[in-house]
Amino acid sequence: MTPQAESVIDLFRATGAYLEGHFRLTSGLHSPNYLQCALVLRHAPAAEDLGRRLAAQLGTILDEPVALVVSPALGGLIIGHEVARALGTPFLFTERDPETRKMLLRRGFTVQPGETVVVVEDVITTGGSTREVIDTLHAAGARVLAAGSIIDRSGGAAGVGVRRVALATLQVAAHRPEECPLCREGVPLVKPGSRPA
Ligand code: ZN
Repeated sequence: MTPQAESVIDLFRATGAYLEGHFRLTSGLHSPNYLQCALVLRHAPAAEDLGRRLAAQLGTILDEPVALVVSPALGGLIIGHEVARALGTPFLFTERDPETRKMLLRRGFTVQPGETVVVVEDVITTGGSTREVIDTLHAAGARVLAAGSIIDRSGGAAGVGVRRVALATLQVAAHRPEECPLCREGVPLVKPGSRPA
């Protein structure tokens, strides 16, 4: 793990956001760890710090100025806002239409043709939501330069079609239920609220 990733995980531990136990991930796999971004981001100074770091890391792969940061609600709201603060840009978010489930810009949010955007999420697992946001922005005429997340739990494998950075890239230990050592030990299984990492 990089020193940056270690210090990010330390921050999760210090804020009680690094949970250890026996968790059922959204994939159905079982894991002994769970990174709950909402628990670290509830601390505004920690959120600001992570936003600055992610903005700096995005800066290492960008060769032109960013005009806008966009994140998918809800998970990306706080970190996207902090990255926008660090970059000095406006911040918009996408939401799912409750009926069609399509990712949309609502609330009067618009992007200009050719506007340069970075897409920011809390956790990337498969990259699915980031790709949906990118598709929405492309359809609106924006140019998506890059994507970033606090945590990448794909081990770096998730592709989103643009360059991408993460503060901590992890290969999450996960077991199929029938092979799970924690199940064998009879440790109670927990299904965390949303967005396991
Ligand atoms: Zn298990």
